[in-house]
Order: sequence, then structure tokens, then C-alpha cells
Amino acid sequence: MTSPHAPAPTSIHLVPHTHWDREWYRPFQSFRMQLVDLVDRVLEMLESEAEFAFTLDGQLATIDDYLEIRPEQAERIARHVRSGRLAIGPWQILMDEFLVSGETLVRNLEMGWQRADEFGGPMRVGYLPDMFGHVAQMPQILRAAGLADAVVWRGIPAAVDRHAFRWEAPDGSWVRAEYLPNGYGNAAGLFAVPDRLEAAGARFLEWAAPWFGTDPVLAMYGTDHTAPVPELAALVSRLNEVHEASNMRIGTLAQYIEGAPPLTDADPCWRGEMRSGARANVLMGVASARIDIKQAAGRAETLLERYAEPLTALHVAPDAWPEAFLRLGWRKVVENSAHDSICGCSVDTVVDQVLVRFAEAEQIASTLARRAAIAVSGSVPRGALTVLNPSPSTRPGVVEAELPVPDAWGDVAFELSDGTRRGTQELARKEPLLFDQELRGGDVDDLFRRFHGREIFDHAWNGYRIDGRTLTLEVDNDPHPAWLDVDDLRAEVTAAMRAAADDTWTVRIVARPRRRLTAAIDAPALGWTAIRAVEGSADVPDGVRLADDGRSMTNRLVSVRVDDDGTLAIDAADGTSLTGVGRIVEGGDFGDSYNYGPPASDVIVERPSAVSVSADLAGPVRGRLAVVRSYPWPSGVEADGSARTAETVETEVRTEVELRAGEPFVRVSVALENRSRDHRVRFHVPLSRRADTSSAEGQFAVVERGLVGEGGYREEPLGTYPAHGWVDAGGLAVLLEHLTEYELTEAGAELALTVLRSTGLISRNDNPYRQDPAGPELAIPNAQMLGPWRISFALMPHAGTWAEAGVPAAAERYRHPLLAVGGGGAPDASWPPAGAGDDALALEGPHVALTALRRREDGWLEARVVNLGTDPVTATLRGEILEARASSLRGEPGDPLPVEDGAVTLALRGAEIRTLQVRRVESALARPEVLDASGPRQNA
Ligand SMILES: [Zn+2]
Repeated sequence: MTSPHAPAPTSIHLVPHTHWDREWYRPFQSFRMQLVDLVDRVLEMLESEAEFAFTLDGQLATIDDYLEIRPEQAERIARHVRSGRLAIGPWQILMDEFLVSGETLVRNLEMGWQRADEFGGPMRVGYLPDMFGHVAQMPQILRAAGLADAVVWRGIPAAVDRHAFRWEAPDGSWVRAEYLPNGYGNAAGLFAVPDRLEAAGARFLEWAAPWFGTDPVLAMYGTDHTAPVPELAALVSRLNEVHEASNMRIGTLAQYIEGAPPLTDADPCWRGEMRSGARANVLMGVASARIDIKQAAGRAETLLERYAEPLTALHVAPDAWPEAFLRLGWRKVVENSAHDSICGCSVDTVVDQVLVRFAEAEQIASTLARRAAIAVSGSVPRGALTVLNPSPSTRPGVVEAELPVPDAWGDVAFELSDGTRRGTQELARKEPLLFDQELRGGDVDDLFRRFHGREIFDHAWNGYRIDGRTLTLEVDNDPHPAWLDVDDLRAEVTAAMRAAADDTWTVRIVARPRRRLTAAIDAPALGWTAIRAVEGSADVPDGVRLADDGRSMTNRLVSVRVDDDGTLAIDAADGTSLTGVGRIVEGGDFGDSYNYGPPASDVIVERPSAVSVSADLAGPVRGRLAVVRSYPWPSGVEADGSARTAETVETEVRTEVELRAGEPFVRVSVALENRSRDHRVRFHVPLSRRADTSSAEGQFAVVERGLVGEGGYREEPLGTYPAHGWVDAGGLAVLLEHLTEYELTEAGAELALTVLRSTGLISRNDNPYRQDPAGPELAIPNAQMLGPWRISFALMPHAGTWAEAGVPAAAERYRHPLLAVGGGGAPDASWPPAGAGDDALALEGPHVALTALRRREDGWLEARVVNLGTDPVTATLRGEILEARASSLRGEPGDPLPVEDGAVTLALRGAEIRTLQVRRVESALARPEVLDASGPRQNA
């Protein structure tokens, strides 16, 4: 802090505002009624007091939620926005930055900005008042969207000792950050006692002087869900009379930022993420509260970003771009990114609604992805398989499908469209006999009552045989032939059975023989390939072999063995070894949704009372071992938090360990039926070498973190951190499906992943690890997470750094399975189908990731790429590109970019995010709705 004798500030800029948590300790519809009252009052005050101004919390959700009830007020709002006295946006919602994908942050800004433009434009300030810390790339996100300022509170490190500082992203782009030393409500109580304004003004300036020096003071008048007092303007005049030094005027936050002095070299500079607890709680425990929300978020985001948008953009006719559906899906995801929603620190009714929104986004995105796949599958014969690759590079992946295979065949191989063959593994054989009953010939109508047109028992009726008094109806997943006179067929069968009306008939419904097969194949960059089943055997490169002991397996790239205590020993081909992997460590948690906090006397359970191991899948494509360990977990924590209960519940933890052909990592899935309350369950991995830091893939960046955080504000500075795509430390990469909490424990000797955290309160007034309550002490029984849970991830031991080991590529492969659907063309359609095996759009460059690919209104495709490394790289996007242009982060077209041989070359700074737009050769793309009508049954 600057000297206590610093010169006093010259003026106070009062920003009337409210902080609007859309849903939290009360559900949305309940808070919204209060919002409508608040906005009604604000509009009246704007009209009755010329000096009044208001800042509507930086999020357009407040406007949308208000106008849904008062649609007639839109123009009135727009008038005040245009006058500059009502500041709205730029966000759609005040999100949590760490618990959502980078792309969700961008869409939030894009959505809010676009909507604000309809009312006269957004506040041009990156307002981030209540986020539980700030991600490293936020300065770059703001700059690339056209913003030069941020306003922040939580997470700000002790190194920032004044109200303004330079905040830099890992790529070097920066914004001026306005720090809110006492939070977004630093002046909320200033006018609480109108008779004592002089003292309040003096006290406020005294508090502000060390932070602001002679700069105008930013006084945030408003806090959670509060409305301004109607007589505010009069109170401000009165304050200026009784305490001249206040020199207070009312304005918006945007006006304060516009008038704020520019940064000087003397101001502090901070580079990267901010998760410090120096002066405010950072509430790091939200990363592990309600893992079901994090799982649902991961599914919805991945499906929208990496399947629905890119596959539709590349494989569906431009005029069939499903903008309205995508907008709706994204809107649900963005609404859920609100900090109290995604964090899981809300009442159970709110969480129920959050999960429904994610489910809707997931339904939209997965259906759009399938429709894109169906659009491609029109040229692939029925009975064959269409496989799409969501990754922008040619890569291997395991596909699985139920395909028709004659019973006479022994081994089956997959033949790819380029003629290569791959060995398969049979996972299951379909039971062909679906129905076997006796029926009097005269009652044949009873049989046909079970049909719906051609459909019977979820199958298509394709033909029949009559053999004596046995009727066999032949059915299949696919209609074959495609056109069939069902009424005629039915008349034939009816006539035959009526002819022996009094005889007893045996009626059998027999499905075409099908086998569920899996194989590892290569698929072209963002393109597709076709596969058909052929008789015979073929090679499975780097196939999985299970040892005779039934507890170890290898695919040459990585080997895994289950030891007697149920932990794993993993050896990578590069010589890296891990032992004791997967110790399940369970302890009490007397904290709350915001912060883990152990009971005064904790009991840690980590030794199983029973262990069993069985081989589950035998290879060569997929090998799997199941380890079942049983633990006597205490049933809860004593009500006073002194200790865990003496009563225990025996809990089985089933860990499935899987190797797949050609994969350099071990897939792990931990499943359990939770019957204990107030506890935390973690999966520990002893590292091959001690780590001082971890590297975690987050929002457009890989961030490096130490073992513990910075504390100061009476919140235990735990080193529990969120990781979005993967985390790497000490020669181990953990590849993730969704946001997961991790910690380096034992002084960096182990990495712990949180599998489950159970708590029963939004905020505990007396949390052992946090002094200051973070919300109301309300019960949230569902956050105990009782019932069945499963969490999946993969472990990749490696030598060298994450970059040398190719961790991003492995994570890309783990998180984004190939998408397979049945062929939709004629069974005798030509083979190989045209276009199969071709790259659609390929992105090249070390550690360069594609985060978005979609179609814009003018028909151009927009891609966003990020250099995850710290060194400058050259990236190339190629695939019959005709024209290219730069773009802002929000999609505003910029200057043309050179195109050579259908490719665009980009020079990226270390950690740079780049958005560009391209036009490609696009011919013969299908419209999926036409195909859907007669489309194939999906059997993949
Ligand atoms: Zn909030």
C-alpha cells in the first residue's frame, strides 16, 4: 500500500449499481420478481433525477429477464442507454471464469455485446466484479474483443497495492485493471444514516486514500440485489454540503473508467491468472462442489464446440446452418455459466434448473452433430459405417458399432475406404430371436396388432418364411429393401395363417445377425471415412494383450498391473514408471460448497478392507480390468464438527482400468455408490518425480501453478486448482473429460484428483478453513451427492515436459471420440464412397488447438485457434480455402489474409488466440432434414 500520509483524493465518483446474482440462495423466478421492482425504480429515478445514473451489473441478463415481464419497456431502456446514463453489458451474464471453457467466455461476451447493441451499445468495460478469481487469458479476450479495461475484485494478489494496475495475458496483451479494494459494494452503506453523512464521507475518503492517492475514488454504491434509495441525488448534494472534500458526483462505471488517469510505469503489473486470497476469499472449493454440474457442463460445451458447430459447418449445406438451434444451445450454456450456477453454491432447486439447461444444450448439440453425420452418410451403403473425426488433424480412434455379419463368418475385419484392413474385437453378439410364441392361425390379427406399419419391436420388417406351421418374420435394424409393400406382405401372411385357422402356429421374430464390433482406425482431419465389415482377420497395431494372471495388460506403449492393494503400477514405453496409482483417499469435510474444511479431528480412510480384480475386456482393441475395493467410510461428521462419526458404511469403489490399441494412456473410471455425508474422496497418484509446479490446461492457455496459493484473508490458501482439459506434473499427465479439481500433495510427490466432495450447506458460518461467510447458511441436501457417481479420466506417464510428450494431442484424442453412424445409402452403393478419407480442414502447428469452427451469417466459416505453447509458432489452416480474412474475437470481419494453395498461414505469438474467417470450396453438401426423414436407423 502507498504511504498512510498519501495526499487525499480530490473527488468521489459514485456508481449506483446492483450486483444481480440471477439465481443463488433463491431460485431465478423468485429473484426475478425483485429484479423487475428494481429496474422499475431505476427507470423512474433516471427520469425524475437528471443527475442520476445507473450501472446494471455488466450483464444483459438483467435486461432480458426484465423485458420478458415488461416487454413494453424496451424503448425506454434504450433511451437511457443512448443518453449514457444507464450502463449495460458487455457480458450476457456474470460468469465464473475458471469453471467454463474459454469458448463459453467468448460466446458470453459476444452474446451480451450483440444484445447491448440493440439498445445503444454496451458499457466498454470488462466488468468482472464477483468472479472467484480471474483466468490468465482474460486480458487477451477483452483486448481482442475491443476492450481496454477490466474491473476486478477477488483473486487480486498482494503485489497489487493500489486501485489500478496493468494486467497482462500470457501473450503479452494487456488491459488497465481497476481493482475494487473492498469489493463491488465499497460504498453500499455510505448513505445508511442520512444524519451522519459528514462522518461517513470522511471515513470513506480516509479508507480510500491509500488506494487511490489523489485519483478520483471509485465508490460502488450497491451490493447483492439492492436497489438505490429514491432520494439518492439529494443525499449526494447534502453530503457535498456537509463534507466538501467528498466532491461527489454520480456517474456510471463507464464514465469513471473514461475519466480515470492512464497507467504509469509506477503502477504494478501482473501477468497471468489471479487466484490470490490476499484480500478476499477466492472460494476455490467450488471446483469440486456438485461434480454433476461440472460433468454436464463438460458434455454440453464439448458437443457444441467440437461436434455440433464444426461438423455442421463442414458437412451440411450452408443454407441449412442451424443458427437458431445453436443460439438456443449456447444461451443455455451461457446462462449456466453464471458464477452461482456453475459453481454449485446454490440451493438445490437452482441446481435442478441448471442441470435441465445443460441437458437441453446437450440434446440440441448431440442431435445437430448426428444430423451432420447423417448428411455425410448418404453416400455410404447401409450396413457399412460412417465415421467422422472432430479433430483438425488425421488421428486414430476407436470406433464401435453393431454391424450385420453373417453367422457363417469367423473372424471379422474392418475394411476402410482406402482398402486398409484393421482387426476387430467382438464385444457382443446380438440375440437374434426377439419373439417366440404360439398362436392360433385364426388369431393372426393379434400378431399384427404389435406392428406399427413396418416397425416391430424397434426393428424394420424385411420379409418372412413359412416352414410347416412355423412363421418366421425377418427383421433388421435397417429396412432392406428400402421400399417394401408392407400391406401386401401382411395380406400374404394373414391368408396363409387363416388357411390353417385352427392349427397352432409357432411365430418367431428373428433379427438379422449382427455383432457389436470395435476397432482402432485412422480418420482424416475434420473429415470422414467409411468402414465395412469383411470376413477374415487383420492386424491390430499396438493391440492390447492381457496377461494370464488376469491383472495386467499392455499395448506396448503403456503397461498396467493391478497390485494386491488394488493400486496400479503403470509403465510407459519411454521408461517412466508409476506405482501405487489410484489410492482412494477419503476424509471428512466440515466445509461448505465454497470451501473444503476438515473436521477438528479428521479420520482419513485409504486402506481397503477387501480387494478383487477381474478381467473385463480381453483385447486386442480394448482391454479392461475391473478393480473393486471396499472401504469402511464414516457415515458423516458429528454435528459440532469435532470428528467424523464412529458409524461407518461399507462402500465399494469400482475402478475400471482400460487400455486401447494404439493409445499411450490408461483410461480410468471410478464408480461408487455414495452413502456418506460431509466427506471428500480423492484419487491419488504418486508421481515419478517430485513436482514444484503443475501445468493445467484452462481457458485458451496452459497455466503453471505452485504447490499452494497466496493467502492473507483468513481463507486457507489451499493448492486445490481447477483444470479444464488436462493437468500435468512430475511426469504425469491427467487427461480430463470435464472440469476437475486437483492438488499436488505430499510436498509435490503426489497428485490428487477430487472424485467427489459432499457438503450440506451453501456456506457454513464457521467453516474451519474460512473466516468470512461466503453466503447464507442454507441447507443443500443434494450437494451431499448421495447415490451412484462415476468420474472418468486418463493417465499418461511420460518423460520430459508436457509439450515434449505431446500431451495436448493425447488430451484431444481422449476427450473427442470419433463419431460413428450407420451408412444411409443404398446397400449396393459404390465402394469406396466419394469423399471418404479426405481431410476437410486441417490445422497444423505445434500445440496449436482449434477452439471453434462455425458458420457466420454471411456464409463465411469462422475458426478460432490458440497457441498453447509459450514460443511463437507458425500454424497452417488448409482445406480448399478460397479466401480468408482476419476477424475480431466477436466475429467482426477484418483485413484479407493471403491464401496459398488452399491454405492460410498464421504467425502466432506464444499463447496467442486468433480468430479468422474463410471461404472454402463447398460443393454437394447435403441438407440433413431431407435425409432424416428416410434416414437410416442409428446403430452406432
Ligand atoms: Zn455474485
